[in-house]
Amino acid sequence: MASVTFDGATRIFDPESAPAVDHLDLEVADGEFLVLVGPSGCGKSTSLRMLAGLEPTSQGRILIGGQDVTGVRPKDRDVAMVFQSYALYPNMTARQNMAFALENAKLPKQQIARRVEEAANILELGPLLDRKPARMSGGQRQRVAMGRAIVRQPAVFCMDEPLSNLDAKLRVSTRAQIADLQREFGTTTVYVTHDQTEAMTMGDRVCVLLDGKLQQIDTPQALYDRPRNTFVASFIGSPALTLIDGVPVQDGHAVLDGHAGIRLPLPPRAAANATSTVTIGFRPEAWHLVPPRSKEPSLELDVHLVESLGSEKYVYATAAHPMDGVSVRNDRYTVRLGKRDTVHKGDRIAVVPLPGEEYFFDTTTGINLEHP
Ligand code: ATP
Repeated sequence: MASVTFDGATRIFDPESAPAVDHLDLEVADGEFLVLVGPSGCGKSTSLRMLAGLEPTSQGRILIGGQDVTGVRPKDRDVAMVFQSYALYPNMTARQNMAFALENAKLPKQQIARRVEEAANILELGPLLDRKPARMSGGQRQRVAMGRAIVRQPAVFCMDEPLSNLDAKLRVSTRAQIADLQREFGTTTVYVTHDQTEAMTMGDRVCVLLDGKLQQIDTPQALYDRPRNTFVASFIGSPALTLIDGVPVQDGHAVLDGHAGIRLPLPPRAAANATSTVTIGFRPEAWHLVPPRSKEPSLELDVHLVESLGSEKYVYATAAHPMDGVSVRNDRYTVRLGKRDTVHKGDRIAVVPLPGEEYFFDTTTGINLEHP
């Protein structure tokens, strides 16, 4: 087991373009499960490949267990990689695939057999050990790929979207299995995914990247509760939050809707950092429904779509009375309602924000005014 450090790690593919990974500073603790997440092209796979030694580091350093491994060959880094494609040898059985790296390392035959059996037991692969990949399901191949990494007993696991080829149901069960295994072994793990749900459910901490730059690294709950900027706020959480730009600030309050007169007090730190307008973020669950024409200042919305998930409903809507100078991103509000709330497409509903559930951002920079 070992810690991992990215120390200003940078990868430049093309000197004319922005770096794929730009001065990444990151500490992964010994035994931690860290998830790198972000949209396509944000540099998460490149960061992982730099750690595994599959990609050179143009500037900065990579350390494993405090040792600088920046120029060290992949096979000498004590890192095991699990790929999206599984990358199993098609002409070898599961057992041979799992044993291959250990045979190359010239481990005694008995030890190899024991390690393969142990990993096969943990992953419930026993009956499949003598099958070749072509005769296995995607989930089974994925477990063999995991087994091949486990038998090596590496200092660090590097996993690059290992669940992407599985169907939705298998993905959910396998992600729980991987997270359990990691906690059982306590092996430091860096896991790449573009799926924020996977990141939130698996990681001890989650590192959000955009355009090769670290946006925020935190526990899943802290990322959700205190996103550092509008990008993190909208990337984490599904469905995404509603962002309202250009909301005027008067006497320490954001005045959301002149018509309805909703006045949201800015917390002291946000008030100190705010300019004349702010961007407000509301999670779908940050609203409650009130009767139409109720006395409470409310926001009236015209419903365009209702998604019923059985246990709850998501309503997508636009403002019935848009305010001058204020714009709603993607021109829609997303509101979570209870399963018993009866709302249909075409309805006009009235909602009120739950106190203190909103986020305030700088409209120009997107920085969280309360947690910069
Ligand atoms: P995805 O989820 O689509 O795999 P990612 O976040 O893993 O995306 P990377 O594969 O790390 O992103 O790529 C980061 C950036 O580096 C992208 O702009 C990509 O086009 C560029 N890039 C990656 N590999 C190369 C390469 N071999 N040559 C040139 N540019 C590359």
